[in-house]
Amino acid sequence: AAAAEEPITPPVTVPHTQLLINGKFVDAASGRTFQTLDPRTGEVIANVAEGDAEDVNRAVAAARKAFDEGPWPRLPAFERQKILLKCADLVDKHNDEIAALETWDNGKPYEQAAKVEVPMFARLFRYYAGWADKIHGLTVPADGPYHVQTLHEPIGVAGQIIPWNFPLLMFAWKVGPALATGNTIVLKTAEQTPLSALYVARLFHEAGLPEGVLNIISGFGPTAGAALASHMDVDKLAFTGSTETGKIVLELGAKSNLKPVTLELGGKSPFIVCEDADVDQAVELAHFALFFNQGQCCCAGSRTFVHEKVYDEFVEKAKARASRRSVGDPFKAGIEQGPQVDSEQFEKILKYIRSGVECGATLETGGERYGSKGYYVQPTVFSNVKDDMLIAKDEIFGPVQSILKFKDLNEVIKRSNATRYGLAAGVFTQNIDTANTLIRALRVGTVWVNTFDIFDAAIPFGGYKMSGHGREKGIYSLSNYLQVKAVVTPLKNP
Ligand code: ADP
Repeated sequence: AAAAEEPITPPVTVPHTQLLINGKFVDAASGRTFQTLDPRTGEVIANVAEGDAEDVNRAVAAARKAFDEGPWPRLPAFERQKILLKCADLVDKHNDEIAALETWDNGKPYEQAAKVEVPMFARLFRYYAGWADKIHGLTVPADGPYHVQTLHEPIGVAGQIIPWNFPLLMFAWKVGPALATGNTIVLKTAEQTPLSALYVARLFHEAGLPEGVLNIISGFGPTAGAALASHMDVDKLAFTGSTETGKIVLELGAKSNLKPVTLELGGKSPFIVCEDADVDQAVELAHFALFFNQGQCCCAGSRTFVHEKVYDEFVEKAKARASRRSVGDPFKAGIEQGPQVDSEQFEKILKYIRSGVECGATLETGGERYGSKGYYVQPTVFSNVKDDMLIAKDEIFGPVQSILKFKDLNEVIKRSNATRYGLAAGVFTQNIDTANTLIRALRVGTVWVNTFDIFDAAIPFGGYKMSGHGREKGIYSLSNYLQVKAVVTPLKNP
């Protein structure tokens, strides 16, 4: 472990800055690069190759060839499984370097990256390795003298677009099921955080992944991302990001070749503290539900609904907890909160905080930037928040907790569901009847009861309503990357 208080020095060199196409690191066809910045200071970490349509064409051609002619989809499933397990082993071996790269590029606490996210990344690939040799179809009892079966086949070339809040975990949620089912991939990383994906993809090639199976394009959304979403030779698209961009990529998919699209989009998740709550525990969990990862979680519990009986005590304690939150250099031991990912997010969050103040919500603590450089925001708590305020409606994606008061269960159900989103919800109660009522009434893809943000590899994740289409992780994620072929042969001697 690091000596307390001493920041760990980030990796002095960045191992990879080029695009990864057909198993080789290459420059962008245009020769252009873009800067990726250190959110602690705004200083340049590296110049990274800027992929665009021509690079996407090259990468899709490589993935197409690897799918149509290469060994990957044709390997015995057990061979694919062995390679995926080896990928996980190599990631374990380089755990700390990968975590440092992730912290440097994204700003998240190093301890979180090194002890939770990189190990979880390896765990996800072991989970998917486990599926690789357990995918098979059915024998179907049809009317008539026929032998009927289904083949579960890989869908082909998968295009995948990921965001910057969990660069490695989003990579694993997308790449894991696609590889386990025998597909080939072109993945576009987020322009804010291109570095860790290039590192792990190189390890995957060391583990024996054949060339062309996993191609990585760094670059921007409207150029590289749009080229991937509208590509005629991409058979499936998986996207995680904002609801606004989700609409764009779904349209690009439909306008091009009608590729199926899975979407994991925004949220405005309720966290409901019922009247029987142990207030100290509820405060701690609600704090974690909102502030985890600098508040940059699509499923953040960003509407904290508190029953009127415990409201005043809750607000006092939530304020005290947020004031105690340790903010600072994410490479330091014991730091709970690092900087936001970039200046755009930083400015957007401060704008929402101003709007909360202007609308008459009570600013309990925080409200300003933290320190004088980088993109740090003070842990902020608003009480007296009303449903029609922007801070209660929009996804802020920052360390801003909004506390709302409620009187009874039916009311809080209605208010919780009165949003275009439906990603997740937290419920805090000891009463099983209250819990069961809420579990069934909330129109969301995940309900965490007396816990929050549990992201086991086997648990499906995804949204109702405008939070998305489809599920990632777990058994449900496999069907995103499989075609079902019905095969019928006549039976001579039924
Ligand atoms: P955020 O606001 O959190 O950055 P975005 O939805 O803009 O969320 O970004 C998520 C991912 O989508 C990133 O990889 C980004 O580059 C990509 N993206 C943004 N705009 C487009 C677009 N028009 N077409 C395809 N991908 C896009």
